[in-house]
Amino acid sequence: MTPLDELRALLGNEAIVGQPADMAPYLTDWRGRYTGRALAVALPRTTAQVAQAVGWCARHRVPVVPQGGNTGLVGGATPDGSGRALVLATPRLCQVREVDTDNDTITVEAGCRLQQVQDVAHAHDRLFPLSLASQGSCTIGGNLASNAGGTQVLRYGNARDLTLGVEVVLADGTVWNGLRALRKDNTGYDLKQLFIGSEGTLGVITAATLKLFPLPRVRLVCLLACADPAAAIALLQRARAHAGPALTAFELISGPCLDLAQRFLARQRPGFVPTPPWTVLLEWSEPTDAAHAERAGERLCAAAIDAGEARDAIVSRSLEDARSLWALREAIPEAQARAGGNVKHDISLPLGTMAGFIGRTGAALQALSADLEPMVFGHLGDGNLHYNVGARAALPATAALAHEAAINDIVYAEVVRCGGSVSAEHGLGQLRRERGMALKSDAERTLLRAIKQALDPAGLMNPGKLI
Ligand code: FAD
Repeated sequence: MTPLDELRALLGNEAIVGQPADMAPYLTDWRGRYTGRALAVALPRTTAQVAQAVGWCARHRVPVVPQGGNTGLVGGATPDGSGRALVLATPRLCQVREVDTDNDTITVEAGCRLQQVQDVAHAHDRLFPLSLASQGSCTIGGNLASNAGGTQVLRYGNARDLTLGVEVVLADGTVWNGLRALRKDNTGYDLKQLFIGSEGTLGVITAATLKLFPLPRVRLVCLLACADPAAAIALLQRARAHAGPALTAFELISGPCLDLAQRFLARQRPGFVPTPPWTVLLEWSEPTDAAHAERAGERLCAAAIDAGEARDAIVSRSLEDARSLWALREAIPEAQARAGGNVKHDISLPLGTMAGFIGRTGAALQALSADLEPMVFGHLGDGNLHYNVGARAALPATAALAHEAAINDIVYAEVVRCGGSVSAEHGLGQLRRERGMALKSDAERTLLRAIKQALDPAGLMNPGKLI
């Protein structure tokens, strides 16, 4: 019996994908930037099967590459080219185990799609606030492993903040059931946090207990045209003071990004004519009535225009309006992927440095090449920008890639100068591993290696990623 036959016997034949054509979708990342090879793809249905598969990997010294919806943007779920690894994909591990409306928690398996969890929460008159444009495809396991952020972090925090407990299969195949549903648990090291953001390098997350919130009755969306990033930041301060916790999202979109999204969505009538240099999309969520929220939103927009922070504003009048304004923002990643060939950065900065960063980096990129066009958008309320650099419209989309190394040097030098981070929410994966590790102190690198060594001494969990 070959080792692979043994795995088939353990999990069942239907849980193992071995033919090259059938494996192909699991071997290339969402952006099409990385393609690897694998021994096989395992599709376990239960935590016990994940434990059997990981235990088999430990016995045969086979690397494990956990994979959820494969929507990650840093190549974290793609195996290397050796063909030695087992891709362990979780689409069949997708039961909702419990919804507890007294405790406001939901316990789900790792392969549940984010959208599915949001829908189940909604059916129980609750909100699960994690919200990403990839929510129809990405999974809770992937969200936790990459500590996903998205559009509601401003109010509710990122995946780390939304998780109360996890169940994990450790590198030797042991199951750790840490599915606690407690908001207070002060009994030593918070082990679940080790696995959140670990990008599959410490264990396979098989289930999680997540926080639920009251469902907002009103979601008002305002689109505001701004002259520059400094005006958008002044507007953020005003919106915070005005709305308090009702401000649930504050997104910045540059003119070229808005144009691209509108072209991608084939909009007949753009939101603003002409497209402003910068646009802010803010969301106001309240348990009150729509008329009250609409008046409050209108007052905020009027005050921002009076103060010169905004030049024009559109306020949603219905849920349909709100959705169509959000669609503009949510279309950007896919529109950029379709346009092809930009150099991506997912950076985090102290807000006070943001306007200076955008100004200096834009000028340095222009000095590098007049063909380059920054395509900037992101979660300004969290200090997080997707600072992507493409080519000007008339040029081939790949023109920016020719300058990739120099672009990265310019952007990351400014990030460091501003005291920022080279990954705000996408993680390090294989794309940013070197850069991320190089910017850590010796003490931090030593701690990270000690954790990796303690939990995965054989180095089989997602090798070549993060660390
Ligand atoms: P995968 O891509 O399959 O894996 C991601 C990482 O997690 C890999 O390292 C993988 O090994 C590991 N992993 C997966 N499942 C497990 C598991 N069960 N146990 C242990 N490790 C595991 N991200 C944001 O943060 N904010 C955004 O706003 C955002 N918007 C996006 C928009 C689009 C259109 C796209 C395509 C992506 C976007 N992303 C965003 C990135 C991506 O969707 C998130 O990182 C998401 O959390 C990945 O989930 P996934 O299930 O697809 O994980």
